[in-house]
Amino acid sequence: MYDSGRSHISVTMRHNVGGVRGRSSGQAYAESALSVALAPLVPLPSWRRPAVVAGGAAGLVLCLAVGALGGPPEAVESAKGFGALLGVVALVAGLLALFRWRRHQEFGAAYATAAALWQEAMYCTECAASWVPGDRRMIGQDQRLGWVLFRRAKQSGQPQRTR
Ligand SMILES: [Zn+2]
Repeated sequence: MYDSGRSHISVTMRHNVGGVRGRSSGQAYAESALSVALAPLVPLPSWRRPAVVAGGAAGLVLCLAVGALGGPPEAVESAKGFGALLGVVALVAGLLALFRWRRHQEFGAAYATAAALWQEAMYCTECAASWVPGDRRMIGQDQRLGWVLFRRAKQSGQPQRTR
């Protein structure tokens, strides 16, 4: 058992790391169960994009309000309708941005840790399991490597977290 670490056949998996999706062999490979198990975590959705949309919509509402000031009544009425619509867009996008921002606050560090661990993770074809060097816990092929690493990162990050 002493040498069990040495007997592992280390195969490091990489999946579309550069964002280039292969259309031929890469695609078929990406659909295998093993590849699904070893796939990297899907990154947290951006909170900046909806924040930009919310800011833009709010800015347009302001422009409309300023533009409608002193205009003919029909122009004010149509500006009100369009402004209300933009207000709803700003509100929804703002809430989405806030929700995502809070997820980044809560899980961002664990995600980053899990992504770094995923980069280091090894896979052994004989054991059909993966592991992170320096961590004896094996991760079976029936588990999603990315999620296991995320859960571990979350757990190890909890004691230090102050809320
Ligand atoms: Zn092995």
